[in-house]
Amino acid sequence: MLTAELLASATAIADNIVSLRRAIHAEPELGLHTPKTRDKVRAALAHLPLEWRSGPSTTGEVAVLQGTRPTGGAGRRVLLRGDMDALPMPEQTGLEFASTIEGRMHACGHDAHTAMLAGAAEVLCARRDELAGEVMFMFQPGEEGYHGARFMLEDGLLGGTPDYPLPDAAFALHVMSNAPFGMIGGRAGALLAAADQFDITVTGRGGHASMPHDTRDPVPAACAIVTALQAMVTRRFNAADAVVVTVTRMDAGTAHNVIADQASLRGTIRTLSPDHRAKVRELMREVANGIAAAHGVTAEVGITEGFPVTICDGRAVALGREVTRDILGEDAWKDLPAPIMGAEDFAYVLEKLPGAMFFLGVAPSGENWSQCCGLHSSRMMVDEGALPLGTAVLAGCATRFLEQGFT
Ligand SMILES: [Zn+2]
Ligand SMILES: [Zn+2]
Repeated sequence: MLTAELLASATAIADNIVSLRRAIHAEPELGLHTPKTRDKVRAALAHLPLEWRSGPSTTGEVAVLQGTRPTGGAGRRVLLRGDMDALPMPEQTGLEFASTIEGRMHACGHDAHTAMLAGAAEVLCARRDELAGEVMFMFQPGEEGYHGARFMLEDGLLGGTPDYPLPDAAFALHVMSNAPFGMIGGRAGALLAAADQFDITVTGRGGHASMPHDTRDPVPAACAIVTALQAMVTRRFNAADAVVVTVTRMDAGTAHNVIADQASLRGTIRTLSPDHRAKVRELMREVANGIAAAHGVTAEVGITEGFPVTICDGRAVALGREVTRDILGEDAWKDLPAPIMGAEDFAYVLEKLPGAMFFLGVAPSGENWSQCCGLHSSRMMVDEGALPLGTAVLAGCATRFLEQGFT
């Protein structure tokens, strides 16, 4: 079976995958413009029969591989995605290929994602005559809060015109540094949350700290809003459809003896359904305004929209499960029992077309994975032995989808 051979093909190019990953890891780039990373990918894949699509808003590129096996009609098209950007944080791994740029680190494993995707391109190009249809490899910058996937969609790099519609399915992998080596996990429905930010400004009237009755102190009102928001989450939302509201920052005042005019709160909102996403905004305003009124001050709630909910198509998850079991064995697949309240901008792609993201466990083989540092840690590590496994699963999902579509 084709999928069984993919692991051998991916393992045969493991050195290429690892060296691309290390080159990207050593020179992390941030945001929507990752030209050096893009150039490394282009150089690594220059010998392959790929057509490249690039577009004005980002350094993201889509490499297109046309299979040469007769399709017997309209061939299917499938997209595989890897992200390329790093985080603005120091690295403390002590690796010989650690970041050479102060204050930047590939701590979310996007270097590994890009390298696995490039590996999948290499594996599938070598099997071009077995592919009936088209594979798009999406190399995307700007995942860490920059909406890179949305820009690439808006630039038309994934298609979306009558002549060149969007692909029929999309798959992506995200490494998980504190999950068992070689495990692939996924779930149908909500996988990751929508993430919005809020800023609440409470305005009163400042004055002397010894005579609060002559002022309208915004601080007690702000504190009451923080606790009321937690009660709002537990009392106004169905606990089976999780909502998280976390106040991460409070600011007010300048001195021990001065009551401030204003206090501000900011934080994050995580939701798993569009209904709750809208309802949180409405209720936060209701709560903040009501509490402010009770304290004789006013409140203003600002919301900055982040990524939507990442929703995986059940058929795509079933396909990934089958492919994983064929390639890595029965025990490699794990059905995730619940969504994770993190967020991911692959959600924009999955809003437009059916597909799925899976997690790949990359904790060092043989170590206690639960003790390993998680994503976004300055000590986050990837066991590179897992990279060919991820490459094979990506290539397998594309191959299986072109062969069978969703069954
Ligand atoms: Zn991240
Ligand atoms: Zn990430």
